[in-house]
Amino acid sequence: MKEYDETRSVLVTMLEELNNRLDTIIHDVRHEQTPLEKDFAEQATQNENNEVIDYLGNSARTEISQIKQAIANIDSGRYGICEACAEPISKERLAVVPYTSQCIKCASQAGPKH
Ligand SMILES: [Zn+2]
Repeated sequence: MKEYDETRSVLVTMLEELNNRLDTIIHDVRHEQTPLEKDFAEQATQNENNEVIDYLGNSARTEISQIKQAIANIDSGRYGICEACAEPISKERLAVVPYTSQCIKCASQAGPKH
């Protein structure tokens, strides 16, 4: 699988960065949840922050699982094949979204994602 060696190392780097980002997010959540003496307005802001952190955490986790799957696919020789229609995913698309699991056609049918 020499063809995707470079892609694989890009994905591994992305995975490390995301894991670091997730660690930071989780750390922030813990910090936010430590009991602090705050008035009501500040508590409301704190809740909003937690929602943002939840969202960031969830999207990072989704991306992490997609990247892990892409790396596994490279290792098993299934990388670059659409999981929905089994057609090859275009090189242009893989260059933009290296961890995608669907071709542009299936992805656009599934919804406005990437
Ligand atoms: Zn497809």
